[in-house]
Amino acid sequence: MKCVQCGAPLNGKSIKCCSCAAMNDRDLRALHRELGRETASDRKCPRCDILMKSVDLGIDGVFYIERCDRCLGLFFDPGELERVVEVSTCPPDEPDGERLAAMVEEPFLNRPRDVRYAKCPVCERFMNRKRHRSMSGVIVDVCRDHGVWLDGGELAQIVRWINVGGRDIEDEKRVFDAEAESRRRHIDACFKGVPGVGEPGGSPPVRDGSLADIVRRFIQLW
Ligand SMILES: [Zn+2]
Ligand SMILES: [Zn+2]
Ligand SMILES: [Zn+2]
Repeated sequence: MKCVQCGAPLNGKSIKCCSCAAMNDRDLRALHRELGRETASDRKCPRCDILMKSVDLGIDGVFYIERCDRCLGLFFDPGELERVVEVSTCPPDEPDGERLAAMVEEPFLNRPRDVRYAKCPVCERFMNRKRHRSMSGVIVDVCRDHGVWLDGGELAQIVRWINVGGRDIEDEKRVFDAEAESRRRHIDACFKGVPGVGEPGGSPPVRDGSLADIVRRFIQLW
């Protein structure tokens, strides 16, 4: 990707051009969405403290999100981010393990983050910093009542992560973890009260008779 202002190649996943310092919009360009109508918003950017613009993404007719011209951060009202992600992504049939692994090593993810707490553009209370899903590598700022703030480049990161299969892998892992946990509870229940099992401190080993009991209980409970 090249800088829109000077044409120099952009470094890694950075949104700032190293040659001319212009900010390059990776987010909306990565969504293949032209900027639609832009109007002045009365909400301020939580990073730059200047008024943002309302940008029409044209999803389902008219679909406004707020965007800061200076830092290219985006603010989504509740439910909007999910909708934008839904219409902008195309998860693969099979996750691309290599590209996913390569993403983890990228400078974008390992860049120094802006760890300042940001204020909600609507109620001006500090937002909570929260991982967007657990494995996307993106940390968003959330106001429980009014929506979510993404710094410039983070939406593109989320979209790319989904498009190489990251979200599918995370979903699979969640199901796998839940099954492993239920199996562990089941085994704990079977072995409950059996001397020498599951109790640290060394009771005598289980004898044959009780082992058969355990197996019977195990089968009954399964
Ligand atoms: Zn440039
Ligand atoms: Zn800003
Ligand atoms: Zn708020």
